[in-house]
Amino acid sequence: MAEGIKSVGVIGGGQMGSGIAQLAAVAGIDVWLLDLDSNALTSATKSITNSVQRFVSKGQLSQEVATNAIKRLRCTSNLEDLRSADVIIEAIVESEDVKKKLFSELDRIAKPSAILASNTSSISITRIASATSRPHQVIGMHFMNPPPIMKLVEIVRGADTSNETFITIKALSERFAKIVVCSQDYPGFIVNRILMPMINEAFFTLYTGVATKEDIDTGMKLGTNQPMGPLELADFIGLDVCLSIMKVLHVGLGDSKYRPCPLLVQYVDAGRLGRKRGIGVYTYG
Ligand code: NAD
Repeated sequence: MAEGIKSVGVIGGGQMGSGIAQLAAVAGIDVWLLDLDSNALTSATKSITNSVQRFVSKGQLSQEVATNAIKRLRCTSNLEDLRSADVIIEAIVESEDVKKKLFSELDRIAKPSAILASNTSSISITRIASATSRPHQVIGMHFMNPPPIMKLVEIVRGADTSNETFITIKALSERFAKIVVCSQDYPGFIVNRILMPMINEAFFTLYTGVATKEDIDTGMKLGTNQPMGPLELADFIGLDVCLSIMKVLHVGLGDSKYRPCPLLVQYVDAGRLGRKRGIGVYTYG
């Protein structure tokens, strides 16, 4: 059960992994944050420190909890450091081949009782689990962006995920003060099955000259009471992440209605990946 979880490994120190590491550290769990890129680890440490301090300034966290959380966080580029983790949460690039390769290595180094969770936005948990010898201990733990703020965790059960694994990860999510929904393992799960076609349609709306990007976003923000317009949201998520998810929906559901908009493809080809690159649909900085 989640109370027994003393140590968590988080793999990928980008926007999602850093936020997940922060949640675990604030919940009183020792965290190893792993990234192959040492610059990513430096930025992650900076962003976690700034973020917990913001919670303290707003009176949502005591200084003591924040200071202890930072002490609990350790960074590494060596997978072997995750050997004793009770739960390992993967948040690396959204590529099935890369994730499978990582899970197969994790299966080799992680202790037999460890649960291996993926923060994938859309890739099949059943197929990721097939790269391991412990598919009953593999599960989707899909946080929303940014993890410290967004209330939801979408838990995805692969074909062989055990009840025990599900119960432990649900309890761990609740320890992070999240609300849980449970999805079966089909492309895009619940949230992205519905959200990404909307974002893709916003790109088609721009691509076919129906309206300007500003009017598309304002129309959807004020017309449907959303905090961000779909194009602004795509920049926030990352256009590369949106494109990967659309490809998974297109291939996995086999319906042309999910084909990625050529404009989205072109932006990604041009390196316009959104906020993280300073340019996407909009320009930042
Ligand atoms: P990101 O590009 O910000 O970060 C990914 C990090 O993983 C990078 O720092 C990179 O150096 C590292 N990395 C890549 N391959 C690695 C490997 N083999 N081993 C160790 N580190 C590696 O990406 P992100 O937006 O944080 O997304 C990460 C995952 O979370 C993806 O699966 C994505 O679909 C999912 N996700 C993203 C969002 C979002 O809004 N961006 C929301 C929910 C889930």
